[in-house]
Amino acid sequence: MHLTRRPALLLLAALVCASQPSRAQTLPFTLKQVAPKVYAVIDNANGDSGANAGVVIGEEAVAIIDSLYRPKATQALLAEVRRLTPLPIRYLVNTHYHIDHVAGNAVFAQAGAVIVGHKNVARWINTENLKFFGATPTAEVQAQVAALTPPQIGFDSEMRLNLGQRTLLIKALPGHTGGDVVVSVQDAGVVFAGDLFWRRAIPNLIDANTADWLRTLDTLRQGATVFVPGHGDVGSAGDVQDFQRYLADVQAAVRQQLDAGKDGEALQAAALAQLTPSYGGWAYFKSLGPRNVRDMQAELTGNKRRPAP
Ligand SMILES: [Zn+2]
Repeated sequence: MHLTRRPALLLLAALVCASQPSRAQTLPFTLKQVAPKVYAVIDNANGDSGANAGVVIGEEAVAIIDSLYRPKATQALLAEVRRLTPLPIRYLVNTHYHIDHVAGNAVFAQAGAVIVGHKNVARWINTENLKFFGATPTAEVQAQVAALTPPQIGFDSEMRLNLGQRTLLIKALPGHTGGDVVVSVQDAGVVFAGDLFWRRAIPNLIDANTADWLRTLDTLRQGATVFVPGHGDVGSAGDVQDFQRYLADVQAAVRQQLDAGKDGEALQAAALAQLTPSYGGWAYFKSLGPRNVRDMQAELTGNKRRPAP
């Protein structure tokens, strides 16, 4: 009798195992090792983290790059870091002030991290983030933005963080907000680029200065071999170049339509038609593409409002 029951039990056990997703499958991000003790935290396809992040481990301490948007994702990131290492989380670097990258700051501050960022992050984090919630943000949103934890250490050119046998170089580069930094792990050839690089994804140009940004990308793509973007998967120097070409193409398309005397809906439709063959398959093209055209038009006609430094 037990000869026939046993295979049935084994089959049942196999089915139970197959139906339970692994821990990695249920995380709101993929933790990708891109070099020894260097991890890219890549948002999943549903956007359950809201943005990407990074983890760099030295001999004495850990640094986190960006704190994600959704509270569950930030908690999951903290738990994953605790699985990787018992070393103290000494620093959290904010790549810029946009809420999808800084909403979880308080979690890492409570875990003992000192928050570091461009000096404009502290200036803008509790005010400029309101604009992402429409003309009349709810009281709840206003309270959330007011409560965001700003960096304690601000700088405007560059600084280094020593993690023990490993130093991070943090460099301010203009283009996306006027308060962005990139984090280089020079011993590993890895750069965490924040939203200065989006891989096969349409960027947010709301605060952008495209002329600055195109120059920044020239510098950026020569500085490493692995590039972790703010949104999208881990990329190469070639991917950074593709992104740079997108920015140049939006600029050229809008300029061409302005020169042809177009405005409003007609300008938007014509510029998008020019961009669709090359970039229609990139993430967020439908949602952010039209806004990119409007932001570029404002920039090229001198009507762009940018946060004051
Ligand atoms: Zn972002």
